Amino acid sequence: MARIVMKFGGTSVADLDRIKNVARHVKREVDAGHEVAVVVSAMSGKTNELVGWVQGMPKVVGGDSPFYDAREYDAIVASGEQVTSGLLAIALQAMDINARSWQGWQIPIRTDNAHGAARILEIDGADIVKRMGEGQVAVIAGFQGLGPDNRVATLGRGGSDTSAVAIAAAVKADRCDIYTDVDGVYTTDPRIVPQARRLKKIAFEEMLEMASLGAKVLQVRSVELAMVFKVRTFVRSSFEDPDAPGMGDFLNPPGTLICDEEEIVEQEVVTGIAYAKDEAQISLRRLADRPGVSAAIFGPLAESHINVDMIVQNISEDGSKTDMTFTVPSGDVEKAIKVLGENKDKIGYDVVQNESGLVKVSVIGIGMRSHAGVAATAFKALADKGINIKAITTSEIKISILIDGPYAELAVRTLHSCYGLDKN
Ligand code: ADP
Ligand code: ASP
Ligand code: MG
Repeated sequence: MARIVMKFGGTSVADLDRIKNVARHVKREVDAGHEVAVVVSAMSGKTNELVGWVQGMPKVVGGDSPFYDAREYDAIVASGEQVTSGLLAIALQAMDINARSWQGWQIPIRTDNAHGAARILEIDGADIVKRMGEGQVAVIAGFQGLGPDNRVATLGRGGSDTSAVAIAAAVKADRCDIYTDVDGVYTTDPRIVPQARRLKKIAFEEMLEMASLGAKVLQVRSVELAMVFKVRTFVRSSFEDPDAPGMGDFLNPPGTLICDEEEIVEQEVVTGIAYAKDEAQISLRRLADRPGVSAAIFGPLAESHINVDMIVQNISEDGSKTDMTFTVPSGDVEKAIKVLGENKDKIGYDVVQNESGLVKVSVIGIGMRSHAGVAATAFKALADKGINIKAITTSEIKISILIDGPYAELAVRTLHSCYGLDKN
């Protein structure tokens, strides 16, 4: 007998039939004698609808946010998961399984005060563990917890993955299964590249890069938690027949295991390609080339919570003037330009230029650490397709390349095949 956390994403609980199907997956594990906790997302599209409703309300002038009260945003958007947790508990009860729903505050899942993007601080798993020991299935609303202000706090988009892994760590589960609409983690988004291959295993570090560079199959924070707390995490499909052969295999369930790199025997040089849309580039022209300029630019941007990503600075020709280019999410361009304008005298630049609608494609693989020429292969392949590179950043295990938006899919496909990732 083992203890398993099963998480079901939005498309897996999109309607009543799918919720009944999820109940069959849960029943399979219960019948095998396992203790089970389930984490659910809102029905697909629901969270977007709720966010849209908030955005349709008048903006609060003079509040602590220029848009709306983030605590009320959380009260509203957390409701989607409340509905699905109750519905799944009923579906399980109808199959004679002892089950009840739990909201984040009932457990409680304690978070910090960053409403809308809260981090989990602590989970008291005692009650759930006790009930699981008595044969009850806990159906937990994902994406939410309780802030220090005693109010509902949500974990950022895609946050139910993080709820699941955090709960698995808190109750010391033997496994955390993330059920979604694809049957594992692929070498790239299988919806863009039909040639993508499913990975049997992927190392934590690689999955972290994939997720933070745009592969939304897992929320970044969930991978961090899985890595730190050594949670055995599988990504697998809820759309397969719950009773098909092998579905209940405890040691080798179908799907992709996220694990330590030592567990991966055949390490490829490149493991996957990720992409992130809606990037924007901002260039400051004719900056003074002196100490403190970068601090004068990026300090105020950070204080305004603008996430700066790729940064490229030119070596100046004459030692007096230089150019600086960096990227931010497209949605932050206006705000960034306003902040730069307010600090123009301190920074000392001539003009600001910007371009939106760009895409960052990234090549990821632990094998890069010990192989030369990986970046050159990408540059050549993109050049052969006539794709212009606007900026490049690299780390030990990834190369990120900024290109024009319309070339995104071509670039992802090109990189995927140039590293031999296409399936036969
Ligand atoms: P859920 O609602 O179950 O949380 P998400 O939509 O958040 O599901 O994540 C699953 C989606 O992630 C897939 O439908 C797929 O299009 C996308 N995806 C992006 N990159 C990858 C990848 N490398 N492997 C698998 N899926 C990926
Ligand atoms: N329902 C939330 C969202 O759409 C959380 C999740 O699905 O993981 O972002
Ligand atoms: Mg998701």
